[in-house]
Amino acid sequence: MKGQVDRWGEREVRPGERKRLRIEAGTSFSGATMTLPLMVWRSKQPGPVVGITAAVHGDEINGTGAVRNLVQNPPFTLERGALIMVPVVNVMGFERHSRYMPDRRDLNRCFPGYSGGSLSSRYARVFFDEVIRRCDFIIDLHTAAVRRTNFPNVRTDCDNAECERLARAFGCEVIVNGKGPEGSLRREAVEAGCPTIVLEAGEVWKAEPSVQDLILRGVSNVLAELGMTDQTVESPPHQVIVEETHWVRSESGGFLQFHAAPGDMVDEGQALATNTSLLGTEIEIIRSPHRGIVLGMTTMPAASPGDPVAHIALPSTKRQYQTLEKSIGDLGEDSIEIQLREHLATNITITCQEDES
Ligand SMILES: [Zn+2]
Repeated sequence: MKGQVDRWGEREVRPGERKRLRIEAGTSFSGATMTLPLMVWRSKQPGPVVGITAAVHGDEINGTGAVRNLVQNPPFTLERGALIMVPVVNVMGFERHSRYMPDRRDLNRCFPGYSGGSLSSRYARVFFDEVIRRCDFIIDLHTAAVRRTNFPNVRTDCDNAECERLARAFGCEVIVNGKGPEGSLRREAVEAGCPTIVLEAGEVWKAEPSVQDLILRGVSNVLAELGMTDQTVESPPHQVIVEETHWVRSESGGFLQFHAAPGDMVDEGQALATNTSLLGTEIEIIRSPHRGIVLGMTTMPAASPGDPVAHIALPSTKRQYQTLEKSIGDLGEDSIEIQLREHLATNITITCQEDES
């Protein structure tokens, strides 16, 4: 099964062909057959099979937009191997603009699935058998959950050398090391022998331009790294693997004024947000307890006690932090890295804290 992309049920995909296919993945409540669209692109030469999957969470559609761009205007010529591009894995969630399956389960905790199990488990099984098992490598595209945004970061198990190779090649500034939760596509795919990386970037319900650009560059990089194109890998100006991340929470109910944006470097004690009453009285200043890079933020200014405000990635050494800080300071205005920092902060009001110099 692994590497096999020529036959899809009755359909055949020959070397050099690009075909739009639909696989049957279950039945809707009204009894209609649910089908899952995908494109198989075979080059003329043999080589690895790379799966690009999006919207395993049905509302996380940044990757869906990027897959459409890849299908319409691929920024590379595929010389070896094959691509399986899946714009929406969780079709049932996507139909309702929802993260979840109709049985309220998280599909990304149901892999590899079971053909005698729940609706989600059966769906996961079909997808795992029909798509994942054919792939040699997978890039799984996600965004932050609702009311949050993520500064683009790749998550993978760096104990697996091939996973780390893929993560480095993709070219995000931050790689978060970890296996992922049980039942997640990435963890179960790696266990089934398919090195997999996850991209976490941007927000739900959006196809954000700079995130699309980043995904196109990242996919091109991975294919170049695997020898599937004749391009070269465009390395990012810096890259850090982090082992630890930390959510900073509000202590009181209030209305947040933000002082940091996704991708910013923050020092220990630096103000991330001021929590005020609705009429502007200061309640608390929320500070970062760590030195690190802002990996995720809430986009919801109304906060209650315990609400997550900012997700900080902690570089393991002070030296790593300083190198990263300097490198970010040297970024060119038109680099994707700067574009991302500007775009992701557009719906958050960032104001400097008054008592800070
Ligand atoms: Zn997700």
